[in-house]
Amino acid sequence: MLEKVGTDCSRCGACVQVCPAGCISMDQERAWIDSEKCLHCDACRKHCHLLAKVSLNTVQKAYAAQAEDGSVRSRSASGGAFAAIARSFLEQGGVVFGSAWQEDWRAKHIGVESADALFKLQGSKYTESDTGDTYARVKQALREGKPVLYSGTPCQIAGLYAFLGKKPEKLYTADIVCHGVPRGELLAEYIAYYEKKHGCRVTEWNFRVHKEGIQGCLGRITYEKDGRIKTVPMLWNCDTYYYHFMHGLCYQSRCYTCPYAQRQRTGDVTLADFWGIERLFPHRVGGNTSLVLVNTEAGAGLLAQCRGLQLTEADTEAACAQNGQLNAPVKRTAEKDRFEALYVQGGWGAVERDFLKKTRLQRLKAQAVYRIPAGLKKQLRNLRRR
Ligand SMILES: Cc1cc2nc3c(=O)[nH]c(=O)nc-3n(C[C@H](O)[C@H](O)[C@H](O)COP(=O)(O)OP(=O)(O)OC[C@H]3O[C@@H](n4cnc5c(N)ncnc54)[C@H](O)[C@@H]3O)c2cc1C
Repeated sequence: MLEKVGTDCSRCGACVQVCPAGCISMDQERAWIDSEKCLHCDACRKHCHLLAKVSLNTVQKAYAAQAEDGSVRSRSASGGAFAAIARSFLEQGGVVFGSAWQEDWRAKHIGVESADALFKLQGSKYTESDTGDTYARVKQALREGKPVLYSGTPCQIAGLYAFLGKKPEKLYTADIVCHGVPRGELLAEYIAYYEKKHGCRVTEWNFRVHKEGIQGCLGRITYEKDGRIKTVPMLWNCDTYYYHFMHGLCYQSRCYTCPYAQRQRTGDVTLADFWGIERLFPHRVGGNTSLVLVNTEAGAGLLAQCRGLQLTEADTEAACAQNGQLNAPVKRTAEKDRFEALYVQGGWGAVERDFLKKTRLQRLKAQAVYRIPAGLKKQLRNLRRR
């Protein structure tokens, strides 16, 4: 017999990792206890962040942040704040945990101990990242006296605290502002669909690349076909998966009522895109910028030890007001139900046929805008602002 751990579940995996009987498994939505193997110790419920609510932190300071090294920025989703903070942390003998791609295009949390491996954690993977056994590995590293920096979605950070039962002194956390996460197999199945459709093998799937003149989300796909390597841009409003991600149509059900999509944060620092930066700093020039929120003293310490990161203090209220997911979770709409129905009916093929039909004009416009040279785009933007 299977029994729920709690009514709500964020699939953080704390209960799976804490269970002494190994009797908890996860389906697409939640964790289940195998009651025949259960020892009735209740460890799973005691360590569930949704049942034993974790305390949240109030934002103290906000910064616009850019890694000084352009090669660090180019691998990152926004300004490279994560990599700059993590690199300095590693140089001081710490271990850094975060999300990395697996060979099957699923994301999984891993730990790295050297700056050479940091690239694996850089960049946004717009899919659920499996925490695997990383909470237990954090506990082990802390026991060995190593400082640990753990990064992930706010619910994964809450799950880690609940797993550990407290916030140990040498543990530092960075939560990312999160729009929502689709279940892992959706992206893996979409890339398989893409490969079949194009008769190719995908070697790079990057949701966020930087291109002069492009503000917002632009990705890049690299694939191998007939012995040749080809790279193509992935415009969020022209790619079926990216469109459904950005419109919040393919997230897991719990994301639409996420208790952490707000100003009170789980992490010592919060990392986000600095949306609306042109309004706050109209004279600032050049490239994508991270928003870094400092939420605790430990977070202030993380920034103080960080080298290679340009920080400009911003007005906290104004910076947070511009970022949707610092204010409320994404709304669940009828379009989400439509996506689910189409997906059940015919997988990505059915979803894509519907997408192509309803977005014809929008896609033409996006492709035309993409082709306008960066300089001209800037002039047009300036004209519009006058
Ligand atoms: C699913 C998702 C949704 C997001 N939604 C928003 C949003 O609505 N608004 C906003 O301002 N920012 C959002 N972000 C955050 C943003 O894209 C950048 O990650 C953030 O600005 C940090 O960028 P960076 O340049 O400092 O570092 P980067 O190198 O880009 O970030 C790497 C960090 O992201 C973590 N990470 C990457 N993918 C995942 C994942 N699937 N699960 C858990 N952790 C992951 C890594 O562990 C690492 O800590 C989202 C990120 C993800 C993964």
